[in-house]
Amino acid sequence: MFETRVTDLLGIKYPIIQGGMQWVARAELSSAVSNAGGLGILSALTFPSPEELAVEIRKIKELTDKPFGVNLTFLPTLRTVNYDEYVGVIIREGVRVVETAGRNPEPYINRLKSTGIKVIHKCTAVRFAKTAERIGCDAVSIDGFECAGHPGEEDVTSLILIPLTVDAVTIPVIASGGFGDARGFVAALTLGAEGINMGTRFLATQEAPVHPKVKEWLITASERDTILIMRSLRNTERVLKNPVAERVAEMERRGATLEELAPLVAGERGKELLESGNIDQGILTAGQMVGLIHNLPTVKELIDSIISEAAEIIQRRLNKLTHH
Ligand code: NAD
Repeated sequence: MFETRVTDLLGIKYPIIQGGMQWVARAELSSAVSNAGGLGILSALTFPSPEELAVEIRKIKELTDKPFGVNLTFLPTLRTVNYDEYVGVIIREGVRVVETAGRNPEPYINRLKSTGIKVIHKCTAVRFAKTAERIGCDAVSIDGFECAGHPGEEDVTSLILIPLTVDAVTIPVIASGGFGDARGFVAALTLGAEGINMGTRFLATQEAPVHPKVKEWLITASERDTILIMRSLRNTERVLKNPVAERVAEMERRGATLEELAPLVAGERGKELLESGNIDQGILTAGQMVGLIHNLPTVKELIDSIISEAAEIIQRRLNKLTHH
């Protein structure tokens, strides 16, 4: 059920892909997603060194024999990242799927593709999707304004971006940003996407390696509880609305520099929040779909429910509409 070019390309059962969330997308969660029939994705930069990523890749291979991927995000960072070495580890450890994000992966595409790795590029505009296709990416993940983390600077929502991207490229399109339940899944397929990417929704699962208080917040938060920061630096990020994020936004209104903002937005501080459960202590990326999260299932329960409810929506609700 729900076989698409994305399931064929990646060798997975269901076209559901887990977002490469910084600090969260570790073997524990990603293997659970792969074992449940989706594609689990490790976040490369969660591991401070390429060698530590290699250890995590070996760990996920022990936890699942199903396909999994590695996310490689190219965005400005406070520390220097040696991408060449991360790519080297990905190739050496036999990873079969890479999700690139943040900027054009052209400098690495030949190296990745020459070893048979499938490359999904995640981007936030139709023209970037066209570039991804032109340089040889196998699929494109299009990230609407609702998304957690970096929505780009143009504020176009998934409802518009997905069909426009589907019309603009011939490679399969994965819908990202705002997805997390069966209704969204069916909507994405209706718009022409061949799979969905979910981040925030997978954060609210039993297996997500974060403090229970973070998960509690996800259940109680509404769709109005995210805020955009870092826009003044043209590196917009959608995050949980908390005192730290509101202070960052206020400092930006007064023209703060990156140096002034860095102590507040540093990823290390966000990592402490995820571990301590003190949700007022740093930055936590979250998408607007947080308003639709009301429970804390296991990854398998979540994926199974999306698939079975999606089939029900199509058979019981949509098919009925076309019968007289
Ligand atoms: P970090 O601690 O290096 O940086 C903290 C924040 O400052 C990040 O948002 C980063 O993009 C931003 N930043 C750093 N240098 C900048 C510059 N010169 N100009 C503008 N903004 C700058 O980041 P981290 O938390 O260790 O995360 C590593 C990478 O993963 C970062 O690039 C981050 O943006 C990215 N990330 C992506 C997502 C997502 O959208 N899925 C979520 C979390 C982190």
